[in-house]
Amino acid sequence: MTIERIGVIGAGQMGTGIAHVLALAGYDVMLDDLNKEVLNKALERIEKNMQRQAAKGAIREEEIAPALTRIHTTSTMDDLKDRDLVIEAATEDEAIKKRIFQDLCTRIAPNCLIATNTSSISVTRLAAATDRPENFIGLHFMNPVPLMQLVEVIRGIATNDTTFQAALEIVKRVGKTAAYAEDFPAFIVNRILLPMINEAVYTLYEGVGNVDAIDTAMRLGANHPMGPLQLADFIGLDTCLAVMQVLYEGLADSKYRPCPLLVKYVEAGWLGRKTGRGFYDYRGEHPVPTR
Ligand code: NAD
Repeated sequence: MTIERIGVIGAGQMGTGIAHVLALAGYDVMLDDLNKEVLNKALERIEKNMQRQAAKGAIREEEIAPALTRIHTTSTMDDLKDRDLVIEAATEDEAIKKRIFQDLCTRIAPNCLIATNTSSISVTRLAAATDRPENFIGLHFMNPVPLMQLVEVIRGIATNDTTFQAALEIVKRVGKTAAYAEDFPAFIVNRILLPMINEAVYTLYEGVGNVDAIDTAMRLGANHPMGPLQLADFIGLDTCLAVMQVLYEGLADSKYRPCPLLVKYVEAGWLGRKTGRGFYDYRGEHPVPTR
């Protein structure tokens, strides 16, 4: 099956990144978000990121303009009706995603494939909310999408081989590497990464170290490119909490209990970089630890 027209639902951090790499790979992209303000900024952000890539020599300057003309934006799912594939990258909330899929299925062609970029929610369960579980798959891009080489590919229990092969082909065409993960809570990367981040928040909560000490310790002591709290802010604390809740409930093991301090930051609306404040305050010239 040939895929040329792809829809992306959600123009947040991940949706814009996915649209970016798809457009550079020659796909026609329709980017959909409820929030018109987000949508207005999306193209600007994509262009800036492409220019940054060109400055580093990762892409050629001449690739940028044609790629940008391949990205269209909309705030109605009706505009997804001619798509061969729709990748959902909306908020990490099962009820929101299920509502999107139910609505989407009434608007797209019967042979249109659906993928979810969920970080943690069961692909099988999300597939069951559609009218085409066999044509549904998990395509888990990493953040920031233009820079990160991996895409986890997750088959739900019903996903057929055609859909799986089509997903692998897309990963190849965008120049990335696929890792196949079974459909268990948070798959591979986040099953390992998020408990480490949650443990870093517990370390902060229990006063073992402050934000600066914890991040410095892990950068210099474990050779991580960024500290776990800096990484949490980068991912988004709401997304981190949502993944921990999926692990906690899905695996029914207390070792995945989300740290109460992480919950408190989310309740405060301090979601990390995207809201200007999380474990660091980004509103000034340099990030300043908030604890
Ligand atoms: P985000 O908060 O930056 O963006 C989510 C976007 O979805 C928002 O712009 C919101 O307006 C939009 N949205 C919500 N409901 C919608 C609807 N009904 N129709 C259209 N748009 C809608 O979140 P994000 O970080 O981009 O995460 C998106 C998805 O990608 C989540 O499932 C998340 O788990 C996953 N993911 C995130 C990361 C990460 O590091 N942030 C990494 C891999 C995967």
